[in-house]
Amino acid sequence: MDIDKIEIIGDQHLPTSLETPLHPNAFDHSDDEKIETIQHHFQKIMEALGLDLSDDSLSGTPYRVAKMYVKELFYGLNPKNRPKISTFSNKYGYKKMLVEKDINIDSSCEHHFLPIVGKAHIGYIPKNKVIGLSKINRLVDYYAHRPQVQERLCLQIMKDLQQTLGTEDVIVVVNAEHLCVSARGIKDKNSTTTTMEYGGVFEDSIYRNEFLALVADDVKR
Ligand SMILES: [Zn+2]
Repeated sequence: MDIDKIEIIGDQHLPTSLETPLHPNAFDHSDDEKIETIQHHFQKIMEALGLDLSDDSLSGTPYRVAKMYVKELFYGLNPKNRPKISTFSNKYGYKKMLVEKDINIDSSCEHHFLPIVGKAHIGYIPKNKVIGLSKINRLVDYYAHRPQVQERLCLQIMKDLQQTLGTEDVIVVVNAEHLCVSARGIKDKNSTTTTMEYGGVFEDSIYRNEFLALVADDVKR
């Protein structure tokens, strides 16, 4: 890919597909093997920058970064790490909107590998199945811990919840700060990005507005 196109995709933060682009043998290697490979290459990056890896403070950095990538920041790449979500029958017959707001987003932009930090707000209208509330947080955490673009993050959370809950009636709003916008490039310290995905009854603005009224103060924050 030519350099101009690389810069354009990065600076405009263009998403290219709903699924996280992975190559077919993405999980042929164990986590430990991946850590070893990344450690090797990150050391090369540091050396290319001119850093002296014999320094006590720096010598462990390639390993620390590699382990952080595989086990923490990008654990959500591996489908085996998707949280187990048991569904329960909707015994109370609660059929109105359920809203969970201010769910932490700790993600990374796939164009610059810099943090995306913010909040997700999620609403759904139960049909026959419900899930434990904390499972929504865990699902958000899982999809956030990949190299991401915010639009795709929003969509992936919504699609999974729709499938898990057996209903199209799901809405997801994400409001986040991108460090690749605040710490480099345009260096705008105050702007945030809001994305919204919804299906089912939320196509109707009455439902959408009811949800947005409930989370409005939090979106503005
Ligand atoms: Zn970026």
